[in-house]
Amino acid sequence: VLRMESVRKTFGGSVVLRDVGLEVAPHTVTALIGASGSGKSTLLRCANLLEEIDDGAIWLNGEEITDPRADQDAVRRRIGVVFQAYNLFPHMTVLDNITLAPRRVHGVSRGEAEERARQLLERLGLAAKADSYPDRLSGGQQQRVAIVRALAARPRLLLLDEITAALDPELVGEVLEVVRGLKDDGMTMVLATHEMGFARDVADQVCFLDGGVVLERGTAEQVFGDPQQERTRRFLRRIV
Ligand code: ATP
Ligand code: MG
Repeated sequence: VLRMESVRKTFGGSVVLRDVGLEVAPHTVTALIGASGSGKSTLLRCANLLEEIDDGAIWLNGEEITDPRADQDAVRRRIGVVFQAYNLFPHMTVLDNITLAPRRVHGVSRGEAEERARQLLERLGLAAKADSYPDRLSGGQQQRVAIVRALAARPRLLLLDEITAALDPELVGEVLEVVRGLKDDGMTMVLATHEMGFARDVADQVCFLDGGVVLERGTAEQVFGDPQQERTRRFLRRIV
């Protein structure tokens, strides 16, 4: 679904991603782990074309999206993104938050957009919250609404950046449960996370980033159970 090759990204003279390669197969979950500042968010932002890369190339479903002629809006429509801060519009109901983009950007009718939104809310256990405003919802509920909003566009790929980082510990579980459910449904996901237990549990592929380099990659068993690099071992020792 997603392929990155020799991606390089710099901010003002400093190299933030160096020769990054990544291959994400359909219906798999890839977890990006690594210390703060190692480049996880930047990698996700590059994949969604929120950042322009300095070198290398990125493909989505076989199409080179970093080609200057690529239709960036069309690309973003096929990629759903959820960030740490849920960024719901406070003055809109849950339903309006979810249907805004499908209606305004994708030209879906109100009826169709609302039907899809209600189906997704139902699936994520939020059916009763459709007409609520975000400030009436718990952090976990808000984050689940943000996930519904990303799914409303029927993305082929979901990028999740530290989606539990802003949550109280007791609310983390319900959001991770949603990710697990999406995996069971076959959604392709790339997630940056500090939740090592979750990454180990849900990820098919784990990439350890260190200073903008994918230092180690493998299955969750390989990376967590038998890390090959000393730096990976040190990172995991510090975390777990
Ligand atoms: P965290 O775990 O804290 O979220 P991260 O792995 O997501 O960290 P990034 O946010 O990708 O790390 O940042 C990687 C490096 O790029 C950091 O050194 C950061 O300071 C730098 N950086 C990120 N965005 C910008 C920007 N817009 N301008 C300049 N430097 C940036
Ligand atoms: Mg980050």
